[in-house]
Amino acid sequence: MVPDRLATGISSVDRLLGGGLEVDSLTEIYGEGGSGKTLFCLHVAHRVAREGRWVFYIDTEGVSVDRLRSIAGDELDRILKRLLLSTPSNLEEQGRAIATACALTREGKRPVGLIVVDSGTAYYRLSLSGADEDDARQTLSLAVAELVATALASHVAVLFTNQVWRSVREGTLEPLGGSFLNHAAKTILRFDRLPGNRRRVVLVKHRALPEGSAEFRITPSGLD
Ligand code: ATP
Ligand code: MG
Repeated sequence: MVPDRLATGISSVDRLLGGGLEVDSLTEIYGEGGSGKTLFCLHVAHRVAREGRWVFYIDTEGVSVDRLRSIAGDELDRILKRLLLSTPSNLEEQGRAIATACALTREGKRPVGLIVVDSGTAYYRLSLSGADEDDARQTLSLAVAELVATALASHVAVLFTNQVWRSVREGTLEPLGGSFLNHAAKTILRFDRLPGNRRRVVLVKHRALPEGSAEFRITPSGLD
């Protein structure tokens, strides 16, 4: 059986993904600052909300509403009615926000089309190399496992953004979050900055599609 897809509305990316985001698994997006992870999440959230389905948006960057305004324009109020936004201020709060979003999604009282966690690893990064590193890893793993289970149970797309660290030896940008996250994500996308407003999306991992890449452009009202 071919799983359903959630079209992103960005034709190059939808082609790369065989129609769109998988709705029964977690999609990880990693990439350097400014590569467009947040814009992409807002773009897809806007699209889902406009169709009348609900979006759980867990935002650790505190920028979503302002930036959503430039994408949604006059529709902002209508979009916000479908957007269940939470702004946790540490990893424990993030874990609770994810647990709540998953529980309400599975309860099924409202049709939920998307869960976004952006950035999924900003607070986790702060705990690395500290005394509480193991606790942080466990908190993150539990939250990710819950997202994966919810995607599967409720056929909802999950977008989880991840930050990067620079491997000096390899000269590459590597995702945080450890091997656990890389196994939990059935689709992994890397966003690269290209000159100007161009960005490249690289399909790093997919369970049914070959590796490949696509491009999009950042415009004043979102993505093109
Ligand atoms: P980070 O890892 O720092 O969160 P990101 O990958 O989420 O970065 P975005 O925040 O999506 O990246 O930014 C993508 C591009 O959009 C950047 O080049 C940035 O300059 C631009 N940008 C940021 N804020 C706005 C805005 N309010 N309106 C238009 N463009 C913006
Ligand atoms: Mg961001």
